[in-house]
Amino acid sequence: MQDIFDHVVLCNKCNSKTRKNYAVKDGFELRILECPKCAEVIYHPGDLKEYEDFKRLKARNFNVKLRMVGNSFCVSIPKEFIDFHREFEREFNDLVRMSLDGPGKISMFFVERKVYKKP
Ligand SMILES: [Zn+2]
Repeated sequence: MQDIFDHVVLCNKCNSKTRKNYAVKDGFELRILECPKCAEVIYHPGDLKEYEDFKRLKARNFNVKLRMVGNSFCVSIPKEFIDFHREFEREFNDLVRMSLDGPGKISMFFVERKVYKKP
């Protein structure tokens, strides 16, 4: 399927040719087309949908059980997280990074977000 961002898009306010760039929201990189003349910004519809899905999921809280397996503890990662970010699933056979962020807070890092390359 063709991507509208692969075509020349004119600004609907001033008719100038827009430029590809990216914007960062909550650590999320979204492809944008921006007008060099009037600063109008058009977000990539696919990236915007993914960002909205992320915000909905981020607003939810999940309660998961801590279980003892051998000398380690295991937690279950909610299916919703995996469904949202299919790349998590790919990482199952690889190591994930984990760190103690503060009292009562552990962070897990799966994959780096892919970076949108500037044209
Ligand atoms: Zn414009």
